[in-house]
Amino acid sequence: MLEQKLREVIRDIPDFPSPGIIFKDITPVLKDATLCVDIVNEFADKLKDVDIDAIAGVESRGFLFGLMLATKLGIPFVPIRKQGRLPYKTIAESYKLEYGQATIEVHEDALDAGTKVLIHDDLLATGGTVVASAKLIEKLGGVVVGFSFVISLDFLNGAGRLRRFSDNIISLVR
Ligand code: IMP
Repeated sequence: MLEQKLREVIRDIPDFPSPGIIFKDITPVLKDATLCVDIVNEFADKLKDVDIDAIAGVESRGFLFGLMLATKLGIPFVPIRKQGRLPYKTIAESYKLEYGQATIEVHEDALDAGTKVLIHDDLLATGGTVVASAKLIEKLGGVVVGFSFVISLDFLNGAGRLRRFSDNIISLVR
């Protein structure tokens, strides 16, 4: 099944990007076009009862399956990017990292008020990145209707921080 296949293909990289971290590397997944299509079909199936108008993906690995899923569903894709990368007028949201802080941005005209948005990223860890993304969507007047991830590190309980936005939290590998 898909989860088993993903467990085999996703690779653990010890001590990246810093000592003591085991990084989940999805790049081997991208070499398998059939697996990529299976991932998107699985997301679409798990989300079939959720009314979604647009998908927001988080830079950079959230762009990969985020755009594929938006294309499959025939709906817009909204890129959420790190500070200073988007060319038009933006709104920003900062959030805490273990050491320091990060800022992400979205174009101020990325979506219309009332748009129902699914937020997608490759991996859910503490949830800080997608909580900040959800706040950006709400600042634009959008409604967060769910979250999707290829991987979630459940022991960090990121999902617990997302439920105030939506209970629709999809992960293909835990
Ligand atoms: P969070 O904000 O703590 O949930 O961290 C999630 C963000 O960090 C996502 O944008 C991920 O792409 C990235 N990230 C954290 N750990 C990993 C990993 O092991 N593999 C890939 N991405 C990771």
